[in-house]
Amino acid sequence: MENRLIDDRHIDFLLYEVVDAESLCELSYFSDHGRDTFSLYLQQARKLAREVLYPTYRTLDLEPPELKDGAVRVHPELEKILPRMVDLGVVSATRPYEVGGQQLPFLIFGMANAYLMAANLAAYGYLGLTTGAARLIESFGSEDLKSQYMKRMYSGEWTGTMALTEPQAGSSLADVATRAVLTDEGHYLLSGTKIFLSGGDHGITDNIVHMALARIEGAPAGIKGVSLFVVPKKRFDGEDLVDNDCVVSGLFHKIGWRGLPSISLTFGDRGDCRGYLVGEAHQGIRYMFQMMNEARLMVGLNGASTASAGYLEALRYAQDRPQGRRLKGREPGAPQVPIIEHADVRRMLLRQKAIVEGGFALLAKASALQDRGEHADDERERERASLLLDLLTPIAKSFPAEWGFEANTLSVQVHGGYGYTSEYLPEAWWRDQKLNSIHEGTTGIHGLDLLGRKVMMKGGQPLMLLGEAIAESVAAAHEAGVEGAWCEALQAAVATVGELTAHLGGLGMAGDPEGMLLHSDDYLSLLSIVVVAWQWVDMAAAAKRGLARGEDTERAFYEGKLYAAQYWIATELPKTTVLAELCRTGEDSYVRIDALSF
Ligand SMILES: Cc1cc2nc3c(=O)[nH]c(=O)nc-3n(C[C@H](O)[C@H](O)[C@H](O)COP(=O)(O)OP(=O)(O)OC[C@H]3O[C@@H](n4cnc5c(N)ncnc54)[C@H](O)[C@@H]3O)c2cc1C
Repeated sequence: MENRLIDDRHIDFLLYEVVDAESLCELSYFSDHGRDTFSLYLQQARKLAREVLYPTYRTLDLEPPELKDGAVRVHPELEKILPRMVDLGVVSATRPYEVGGQQLPFLIFGMANAYLMAANLAAYGYLGLTTGAARLIESFGSEDLKSQYMKRMYSGEWTGTMALTEPQAGSSLADVATRAVLTDEGHYLLSGTKIFLSGGDHGITDNIVHMALARIEGAPAGIKGVSLFVVPKKRFDGEDLVDNDCVVSGLFHKIGWRGLPSISLTFGDRGDCRGYLVGEAHQGIRYMFQMMNEARLMVGLNGASTASAGYLEALRYAQDRPQGRRLKGREPGAPQVPIIEHADVRRMLLRQKAIVEGGFALLAKASALQDRGEHADDERERERASLLLDLLTPIAKSFPAEWGFEANTLSVQVHGGYGYTSEYLPEAWWRDQKLNSIHEGTTGIHGLDLLGRKVMMKGGQPLMLLGEAIAESVAAAHEAGVEGAWCEALQAAVATVGELTAHLGGLGMAGDPEGMLLHSDDYLSLLSIVVVAWQWVDMAAAAKRGLARGEDTERAFYEGKLYAAQYWIATELPKTTVLAELCRTGEDSYVRIDALSF
């Protein structure tokens, strides 16, 4: 049996039985769509993922890009694969008709992209950032930038990058030092070095458009002095394209995502790198947040997809691999049983299922909020959706990355010794997964963002909205006949979060930000567990409704959801008590220990 990468039935369940994707079509922006267009898009993505992207996954992993004569050479297979993804709509499907898009909900786009990610994360990575880069120009750029660059990016003729990181400015973008000097001709001359640029050079398309943060000469220090520029690899000189002095100064050798180059890029070695200001000066970070927030949901999807590929491979292996005998009635000479018969292997599989499916459910919810936040016809609905999404984004990014890494570790473990060899794929997905807790903000930074900013913003409104949304889910779960104890456990955990947040907020207000944020990582874990328990209560309610419809062919599917919900609520939710206690008591060994005592 081949690896299905992602369970189609689970994705359809989320779309049509849990988050009600079709209700998005009531919004005018999506009114041309319906289940038929959603299904068609998903079906094409599934086919492309399984028939085109997956077969080249190992090849790209084994034959990474090379830097030769100042240019990056990537695997030739990519020249065939990328246009197929562009044709599907990977760059522009969510964008308005006016710019060549299909006005497809982000919810459908994200779930479809998940298949491409699960099949071949590196190949997807070439185009993954192009949408966000072009969208920055669409939202904030001049008409010239739109006609010269954005159009060619949305059409897939050129790709785009996110050029933020510098050697001294990774987590701390306030320290961006790339310089921009205004010329009499109206453009800027840039100088500086960016590092870790994904897809920063590849030779598959004629041009690459870097969306770069830089500091205009004389700008204020810190984050308020950072501006956003379009810095193309090749710039226009009349109708011609000429070299824009962006020099590939290094190629990183990575442990995962090996088919996609990550480079360092030096602007202005010859003093001739032109940058074109996007929007107003010194507003670069504000603009860039549009791209970063979308990219964070995409990283969450990377995480859930990579964990899913590992989980389904482990499930397949566990059904096929004979080893040992059952504990009860063990008789010498009796045939061995498939390892899925052993309780500990089942534990590993159910844990992966709970993480993977819970992660996809969270991302489906976050994506639907993104659609409503941007396109709801009612302004208040847009505001509420955006606020709740703001709160969920650090969790939707880091839960699939952190717990997903654990799921990929379990996938290796289920394979025993074979899992530790490169003859089997789980080790490759495990390597790929690790990046997701690092790029687009490390987990540590997202913990600080969640507790230091998101839960406290607007007088704590986002957390109140979360409480209301969970209360609605609990009411629907009661009605569907979900176990009362599960709902009570979830509500008790929500109450714990409320009390703890008030306590920690009090520390912040009393001038003790260190005390408040000491356990921000534990706080992120706590809220992640609760938010995923919310997903499992929602899925349990949908499963109960499905069982009540009495379709026998679906019984095992729905019962699987109930077992996974039980697992999450019984084994993960109790951990929130310990995490809350750590946050509250402010256990401080790691801050008090002297650096010499480590
Ligand atoms: C393969 C790959 C692809 C990438 N792609 C891109 C890309 O396309 N474009 C781009 O611009 N960047 C990209 N990045 C860069 C990535 O976003 C950064 O690596 C990341 O933000 C972390 O920055 P850093 O590496 O400088 O680590 P640092 O910021 O030095 O962090 C090191 C450690 O210190 C912790 N830390 C740092 N500051 C704090 C703090 N204030 N409080 C608590 N803990 C802290 C971090 O959590 C981390 O654990 C990529 C990176 C990789 C590895």
